[in-house]
Amino acid sequence: MNEPREDTKSICPLCAVGCSVRYDETTGRARGWPGAPVNANGELCPKGIAAFDVFDDEDRLTRPLMRRDGDLEPVFWNEAYDRIEREFERIITEHGPDALAFLGAPHCTNEENYLFGKLARSLGTNNVDNRARLCHDSTVSAMEERLGSGGMTNSIAGLTETGVFLIIGSNPADQQPVAFDSYVRPAVNGGAHLIHIDPRANTTTRLADTHIAPRPGTDALVVALFVKTILDEGLVDEEFVADRTEEFAAFAAAVGEMDGETLAERAGVDSTKIQAAARAFGGAERAAVVAGTGVEGDDPDDSATADALLNLLLLTGNLGKRGAGMNLFRGLNNEQGACDAGALPHQLPGGRPVADAAARAKVADVWGVEPPAAPGPTEIDLVRGFGEEIRGAFVLGENPAVTKLGTENVARGLRSLDFLLVQDVTHTETTAHADVVLPAGIWSEKAGTVTNIDRQVQRMRALESPPGAARSDFEVLCALGERLVGDGFDYENPQEVFAELTDVNPQYAGMSYEGIGTGSQRWPFPAGADEGTDVLHRGEFANGERRAPFVPVPLGESSDEDTDELVLLTGSRSGDVAATTMGSGMGRVDETLTIHPADADARGVADGERVVVESATGRVELTVEISESIRRGSVFVHAGIAEPLLGAGRTHVRIS
Ligand code: SF4
Repeated sequence: MNEPREDTKSICPLCAVGCSVRYDETTGRARGWPGAPVNANGELCPKGIAAFDVFDDEDRLTRPLMRRDGDLEPVFWNEAYDRIEREFERIITEHGPDALAFLGAPHCTNEENYLFGKLARSLGTNNVDNRARLCHDSTVSAMEERLGSGGMTNSIAGLTETGVFLIIGSNPADQQPVAFDSYVRPAVNGGAHLIHIDPRANTTTRLADTHIAPRPGTDALVVALFVKTILDEGLVDEEFVADRTEEFAAFAAAVGEMDGETLAERAGVDSTKIQAAARAFGGAERAAVVAGTGVEGDDPDDSATADALLNLLLLTGNLGKRGAGMNLFRGLNNEQGACDAGALPHQLPGGRPVADAAARAKVADVWGVEPPAAPGPTEIDLVRGFGEEIRGAFVLGENPAVTKLGTENVARGLRSLDFLLVQDVTHTETTAHADVVLPAGIWSEKAGTVTNIDRQVQRMRALESPPGAARSDFEVLCALGERLVGDGFDYENPQEVFAELTDVNPQYAGMSYEGIGTGSQRWPFPAGADEGTDVLHRGEFANGERRAPFVPVPLGESSDEDTDELVLLTGSRSGDVAATTMGSGMGRVDETLTIHPADADARGVADGERVVVESATGRVELTVEISESIRRGSVFVHAGIAEPLLGAGRTHVRIS
């Protein structure tokens, strides 16, 4: 058994909202407390209350394991480290450092992701990535390109001042419940208008004044119709457009040529309804977009919906002020922080490009090693290279055997690696292929910081010790750094790592553990400030420019309803305990496939029937739930079950 849990303040690991939690000895469950940075009234959702329930001790890895004669056998830490050292050195000698891949985790702390990136780059490769980018790749790229930052533009707390919400590709009532119930819901109950764009009616829709269920894959068309109405009806914020934007004339001319009725027909929506919603959005003093993974396109380069949303915000002057903006609601608890800490192939800590010589020089000053200049491949391409140009991999708290492209292909790739090191808290489909498995700590055994969706950096504290011989990721990464690199990994504690991160990452400059305390500090964190910046892009955009460009959006044909395939929508449902533990295992999720009656009829499937759902990457068996809540042409599957089906961008499935 573990040591008893301490009544110490930490952060809920189950979504990116970042609610504060402590262990309640009376109930054995989590509770909040008044005055916390996000859940200011101590509120937690059902997932958060169950945060301590996730793993029973018998599921945990408690000894390092090493493969001998085909089987994983318990070994001492030094034996495991010796083998890792030998294998990494051999691969680097024989194939070079770019033959290694480092797959990090958006549910690990900032310090762990920072050490992970530092380890990879100190060994001479930028082959380091994390799953956060797979989820929001095109949206973050569009925001970085046009605004200079992919971070949520506003604060969750500021959403109480919003007059009109446009929630698109997201179901925050289920997926980010405290953000929704404590900030969005009170605003709506106080008179704010909520427009929900989603092919599937869900818990968020219940609060909506307007539900728009477009044909899957046509969100960009719908947003373009909003833009057209606002231009046609003179609802443009002319002062903002003149002062803070560029390329308006060409953009307006292109929109003027659009045929609204044709676009509405293609999207399968009622143009009158769209126009009424657009009038509400354009007429509001403060209008905010809340976007989720549903706005991602067919591939990582398809940013049409994100670009259309940014056009809408620029047109209506809804950037750079409270209660407005592009509010990217992320899912995993430290998606923002994993990227801030530099667990990315193209960016150093703080989002600075690896190709930027000055950024590399700054890092080299601190590390004593200059990172390579050429960006590494994305996680998708790294996984595709397993067994080919990638000979060895270090997987930290992830399960690529079921979460990456093509279950069977990835399994084959994992098997064909010369050496696979996995650090996790339980056995997974990926540890089954590992040569060495290191037992790690779950979220409540970790100290460090995490960064939530609205850029608040908060401290997690270890409430208990890892069981048996398991060690925290921090401890293991330091030990591996000392063995594989040498100097630069001799840290006493995560606090020392964070201090170094604030030196290397300009966004975090000035932050400290003492300053964060049981509260938070938010990036950007101006010198001398007590608090960070809640609204980005005031006065100038994050790239230092006064003006941001309008971008024409390609509105190609959609053929989703004319094929045998259905568009896969994913998410969670209220009350699920879907994610986990800062490891990669999975809690309880439902195995239901929600499908429209017409689509069920066309495929001859009945309510309650078990069916096999296949995509280009994998297959899962699910129970049919026929419901008119979902738009024809799409199906809904819980995110935790859907992972084998998911590729990059929009996923299409068949039922058999
Ligand atoms: Fe945890 Fe998210 Fe629920 Fe808050 S909203 S308690 S962070 S799962």
